[in-house]
Amino acid sequence: MRLFYTITAIIAGLILLIILLPVPGSLGLPLLLLVIALYLALLVYGASRIDSKFFIRTHCRGSAEDRKIAITFDDGPHGERSEEIIHILRKYECKASFFLIGSLAEKNPEILKKMVKDGHLLGNHSYSHSNFFPLYNRARIRRELKKTNDILEAASSEPIRFFRPPFGVSNPRIAGGLKGSGMEVAGWSIRSFDTGNQAAEKVVKRILSKMEPGSVILLHENSEHILEILLKILPAIHEAGYQCVTLDQMFQSNAGS
Ligand SMILES: [Zn+2]
Repeated sequence: MRLFYTITAIIAGLILLIILLPVPGSLGLPLLLLVIALYLALLVYGASRIDSKFFIRTHCRGSAEDRKIAITFDDGPHGERSEEIIHILRKYECKASFFLIGSLAEKNPEILKKMVKDGHLLGNHSYSHSNFFPLYNRARIRRELKKTNDILEAASSEPIRFFRPPFGVSNPRIAGGLKGSGMEVAGWSIRSFDTGNQAAEKVVKRILSKMEPGSVILLHENSEHILEILLKILPAIHEAGYQCVTLDQMFQSNAGS
């Protein structure tokens, strides 16, 4: 929340200056409205862009020194699709991070165990993944995080370290709900747009053209083309000499990078 507080303080200072300084009468109101509009635009940008780290310290990119890539999957588990994903990952010796929805995870405990057995990391992606999640109060957000962690920890046997907010939206309520949980927030550096209606080839091109040491790639288990995308990017990642690691391995300290 440091960035949010700093910008709020700067905007409050600007508003005070406009009110207190002898600004010509006809300029005062337009200037005031401009500053307020700028502040609102910054709030919207900060809430919608997780990599802005406006409200919450977020891990979006690993060290540029190490030839490591982190592949992350949101919105699972997804039945047989998850099994196929695990199978492909195994073939290319890729360890990934799965951000799971609690309500789906509790119906698929066996898939969770298979993910853990193969060395993948389980992450919290809320219990409901409701469209209203960003509007929930802190207590309700806390309850969702706890309920999901209980389900995931039954399979992983270790504390869940990372949370990824639904839709990548962050705000003071989510920051408040996370407070005291000990969890860290995971964002991404490459958004694949794999759930849109773009052809798999285009998504693959986008990912590979942006890939660099420390990249965190956002994919979705429920993307229509996920298997095709994986079968194209994993050999390329392997050939380029990258190691596919979990977020735990990518971010060994809580630096909020
Ligand atoms: Zn999601």
